[in-house]
Amino acid sequence: MEGTETYFEDLVEKYNHFMIDCDGVLLSGTKAIEGSVEAVNRLIEQKKSCYFITNSSGRTSKGLREKLDKFGISLPETGEATYCCFSSSYTTSLYIKQEYPEIKKVFVLGEKGLCDQLEEEGIQTVGLDITEISIEPEEYENYELDEDIQAVVVGYDQNINYRKLSIASLYLQNGRKFIACNPDMFDSIHGRPIPTTGVTIEALTYITGLKPYICGKPNPHIVNIIDKEFGLPEEEKAKTVMIGDRLTTDIYLAHNAGVDSCLVLTGCNTAEDVHNKEENPDKIIPTHVMPRLGHFRESA
Ligand SMILES: [Mg+2]
Repeated sequence: MEGTETYFEDLVEKYNHFMIDCDGVLLSGTKAIEGSVEAVNRLIEQKKSCYFITNSSGRTSKGLREKLDKFGISLPETGEATYCCFSSSYTTSLYIKQEYPEIKKVFVLGEKGLCDQLEEEGIQTVGLDITEISIEPEEYENYELDEDIQAVVVGYDQNINYRKLSIASLYLQNGRKFIACNPDMFDSIHGRPIPTTGVTIEALTYITGLKPYICGKPNPHIVNIIDKEFGLPEEEKAKTVMIGDRLTTDIYLAHNAGVDSCLVLTGCNTAEDVHNKEENPDKIIPTHVMPRLGHFRESA
């Protein structure tokens, strides 16, 4: 680690607003990371605003809150500070609501959590119940597009198939907006990569030549969303820190949004990765590096 060692207490003293990644910071697989529950509870005690931001699109904001609760992280519903969970399905729904309020119906390649979240924000969804996997050339040629569907929204979808991809590409070829929850190509299950959202995006980009607007990290738009929904004025940005375990999403988000960052070493990246071209192609240096979120001075 470089420079002065940062402890959790230093962050609490310096910042009022905490944007915190979930996997690799609070949780690892089915367990809470040592010290993370205590750290979040201290932020709540100190009335610091906390925004939990994950690129996972399979849950609604409420679903993510319930998941954290199961791990012992119970967020107050109301109070002086704001406690909000942003799955990328929530970020995406708010993005559409704020930027394209005229969009009321979308074609979705994604899970139920994404559809539920969009519907909660008043956006009707089509696509979840498509179980047929094929589409014949004749049907494709004569396929009637729904004029009300104004965007294709892509998230993690375990039930992606040829028919869904074909219909989505048809909408995109006919001028509908292309919006994705996150760019992640794969997750790692105990060291075994498994395809995620980025793979579906690549297929559609390959067919149509179009690239989506990606709502999840490292897009700094999340900070505008937080500002519009809860209030995070420009002058408070200096008192905001993004804490995460992945350089190219969490730390790049902080950089893109103009806020400080803290890399924790309990997930994807190591302290050495900061100087590794492949892991950190844009050479963004985190403001702080901590071994873990709950790196307390008093017990060091
Ligand atoms: Mg993470």
